[in-house]
Amino acid sequence: MGGQRKDLPGGAAKRERRRRPRWGRAGVAAVLVAALAAAAFAMLRPAVQADLRPIAHQNILLVTIDTLRADALGAYGGRARTPALDRLANEGVRFDFAHAHAVVTLPSHASILTGQYPFQHGLRDNSGFRLRPGSRTAATLLHAAGYATAAFLGAFPLHSRFGLNQSFDLYDDHFGETRAPTEFAMPERPATEVVGLARRWIVNRARQSADRPWFVWVHVFDPHAPYKPPAPYNAEYASQLYYGEVAATDAALAPLFDDVREGNRPVLVVVTGDHGEALGDHGEISHGLFAYESTLRVPLIVAELGGERRDRPVPARGEVSAVPARHIDILPTILDAVGLPAPADLPGRSLVAAAERRKRSAPRPTYFEAMSGMLNRGWAPLTGVLADRGKYIDLPIPERYDLARDGEERSNLAGRAPQRDRELLAALQGFRPVLPGQRLAENPAAAAELLALGYISGDAPRRAHYTEADDPKRLVDLDRAVHDAVNAFGEGRAGDAVRIYQGVISRRPDMAIAYQHLAFIEWQRGEADPAVELLRGAIRTGVTDPRILTELGGYLTETGRVEEAIRLLEPLAIGAAADADALNSLGIAYARNGRREDARRIFQRVVSVNPDSSIPLENLGLLALERGDVERAQAYFEHAIRVDPRSSRAHAGAGNVALRRGDRRTAVAEWMRAVQLDPLNADALYNAGTVLARDGNLDEARPYLERFLRVAPASVYGKDLREVEAILNRATRR
Ligand SMILES: [Zn+2]
Repeated sequence: MGGQRKDLPGGAAKRERRRRPRWGRAGVAAVLVAALAAAAFAMLRPAVQADLRPIAHQNILLVTIDTLRADALGAYGGRARTPALDRLANEGVRFDFAHAHAVVTLPSHASILTGQYPFQHGLRDNSGFRLRPGSRTAATLLHAAGYATAAFLGAFPLHSRFGLNQSFDLYDDHFGETRAPTEFAMPERPATEVVGLARRWIVNRARQSADRPWFVWVHVFDPHAPYKPPAPYNAEYASQLYYGEVAATDAALAPLFDDVREGNRPVLVVVTGDHGEALGDHGEISHGLFAYESTLRVPLIVAELGGERRDRPVPARGEVSAVPARHIDILPTILDAVGLPAPADLPGRSLVAAAERRKRSAPRPTYFEAMSGMLNRGWAPLTGVLADRGKYIDLPIPERYDLARDGEERSNLAGRAPQRDRELLAALQGFRPVLPGQRLAENPAAAAELLALGYISGDAPRRAHYTEADDPKRLVDLDRAVHDAVNAFGEGRAGDAVRIYQGVISRRPDMAIAYQHLAFIEWQRGEADPAVELLRGAIRTGVTDPRILTELGGYLTETGRVEEAIRLLEPLAIGAAADADALNSLGIAYARNGRREDARRIFQRVVSVNPDSSIPLENLGLLALERGDVERAQAYFEHAIRVDPRSSRAHAGAGNVALRRGDRRTAVAEWMRAVQLDPLNADALYNAGTVLARDGNLDEARPYLERFLRVAPASVYGKDLREVEAILNRATRR
């Protein structure tokens, strides 16, 4: 290293090489975490008469609380202090035996909104699926009936890219798309923020167009892991933080319920959880693998507030219904409560009559499933049925429980009364549930390309039959290992995480999620080739998850093997339901290959189906910047910031635009903002640090440059790392 500062040309701004913001790819970590992802009921006496009746055009507030066990709430005899929800239960009807049909967020919410079972609406897991355009949902039906519609979402699994945004006038999913690459954390925002947005919208509605009824959906994510309740709940629930999250969520929702309670217009309020949380039940840590009552049973509270009920005293005790209630019943209930006819082919039924005890009909069986084990672990698919208090779980090792006597599902009765087993199995088969296909088999073009690229030979291995060795009960300890690995990585023990994943893969060589995580860690550690080889090996082993292909395509692009990436990704872009992540990856590959027009078309396509996503806008901004169209680039980045004010990449891009315009102050300010939003945004760190250094502000530059050295992966930033080291060395010597 020469002592002269000849590579710090100062005024020669033209020669400055700037790192563009990274091409935006959808959150790898978010998708990964999405994939990670019992109480006895009392016999109830009727209490006060329920006060639910149809009111034409009343407003509707649907609140879904993520990861909420029924038995967490005070009203359900639970451990968390939940005065707001308990009061709501006293004002309305609490269903004590309510169930979801899926145990992960996206499929479960799709059932709530469409009134359909997962095999009908088609969403079987948190990623890799998208609700078909033109689907019928609560929003499409109510919007067509004249309702203004708005949704306020708490976390990534309900991002507009998954298609639940259809017919919402406003679908506010701005929880940011950036995240730290050192932890598998999902972008989310706290309930207080989500509730605040919803309250503001409702107040403005009342002012602007009081005549038009509204349908508002509020989704809060806080009880989902990791459990980090705010004060004072963190102290009060120090030994059971999950319940602290539930209590904090209740407090966050209280002002929303107060608002509608005091409003002039009647409001139908429906509150439920999308699924519960295992908390160790049957060896499961969180949710998604099994369908025991700890994750399948949910709270369901229905109440009518506001309007003429405004000043009515709160009953000391609300109606409690033991009628089996299902998520698919929520849509017919809402339609019934506002006097709209329910489409005849909906499998659910209104609960208004059940709540009012106007009639007693025989309980109908309900279907449930857990497909994450099959879809991202290669395990046996789980389907099951609940008929009255009998529960049958169809797995290679079948299970049957009598929930009336054994609410914690301790005693597996399968095989003890074969006639009862057969009845329940017949009820399950009566649903004619279709399993999600092997995803690759559904995409012959992708399979053909993998064959041509030599990734697979002949037809990809395909599992036709699952044995007891594939039963999640036998494999749940692997899931614990994945959790341990995630924690190890989050705590900076990447080596430990790698060893755990290698152990998991040697035991289950078809476990997609382990390959995904491991490749991601290798990549972050700068081990680009091992990451690529690992994913190629996964495909050879028969892992057919398109997310693996998408990831591999991204890594190939980053390491310069663009042609191969394009061949791999193009088949995934076929069809209207193509995954946004796959499209983005393909667009980036085109851009890297100089095919800017193809890239632009792909990004535009993502914008047209995901107008609320900032990533494709940022990528369009980068394309414009590449061809020197600063005006257009600025417009795209500004649009991206409007769509997601917390996008680090959008701010980083705005910084690059400002630099092109010669406005170094604004440029640095934007990059600093980008770093503030995502402390691991290596490009923003590099740009802020090097521009400050060139302008002689070494003290200000130093933290950015030092942080860059710590966080930028060598696989992508090798040359920049050496340059930054040199700058810091010279600075030290002076
Ligand atoms: Zn959820």
